[in-house]
Amino acid sequence: MHLIGTADNYRQWAMAAHKTDFIPTMQPSSDAQANRYIYVVGSAVWVQDIVVDERWTTHFLGMHGDTACWGVDVPRGQDPADGAAIDLHTFYGRATHTEWIVAGRAVQLVEWGRTSQFCGRCGTPTQIGHYERAFSCPSCRLMAFPRLAPAVITLVTRGHGMDEEALLARGVQWQIPMYSCLAGFVEPGENLEQAVTREILEEVGIGVTDVRYVASQPWPFPHSLMLGFHARYDHGDIVCDATEIMDANWYRRDALPMIPPGISIARRLIDDWLGNQ
Ligand SMILES: [Zn+2]
Repeated sequence: MHLIGTADNYRQWAMAAHKTDFIPTMQPSSDAQANRYIYVVGSAVWVQDIVVDERWTTHFLGMHGDTACWGVDVPRGQDPADGAAIDLHTFYGRATHTEWIVAGRAVQLVEWGRTSQFCGRCGTPTQIGHYERAFSCPSCRLMAFPRLAPAVITLVTRGHGMDEEALLARGVQWQIPMYSCLAGFVEPGENLEQAVTREILEEVGIGVTDVRYVASQPWPFPHSLMLGFHARYDHGDIVCDATEIMDANWYRRDALPMIPPGISIARRLIDDWLGNQ
């Protein structure tokens, strides 16, 4: 493989390598043919090809094909969409997957900009960097990068063949009787595999082994990165942590409860398992 020489070359290579037509970058490509603006109203989005107000802060998002995409921070109290902006959950059903990823990046970078105006250590107004995506403090030099909270989500299985079962749980906060994989945030000082085993033990009292990474997914609610795993049951009986889990059970493929919709990587983990008898 050749080394990457320019941003444009990188984009061509990355689009092919990752089989996507959106590449997050710092600057528009020289061959950009159009602009698209994702206006972020509160945490809702409104997508347009026009500039509404040149004074509003923008964050470059990346190239979607040959279109340069920008996130626009709509100041509080203003609404260029007149109520037509929609939240990211709703946008998922109305946009392509790539458009949803772009909008999620817009919401996260705009929110990062809104909450990084002052240094978290000394309170001095920050300055945005021109060559890297960071705010820096001119007084004490503290840097503020976009936040990402890694979270692990795991499908645990036991048994074999037709009798194989998956461990699915219902969170106490969920309004509908849906059952999903177990998930939780990674703690400072632990690796991903440790986070998987700790979360499952804490939430349902089950010990697991053979923890294997499957796939990842940006999850802009508000700034997570979901890391999907598969694990095998090792020991223990289900004992739910009542503060987090309302109910958890082992389910065969032919007797599943209501499972998450396609927006979630949990659904992919479950679908992969269903297809792997
Ligand atoms: Zn400072």
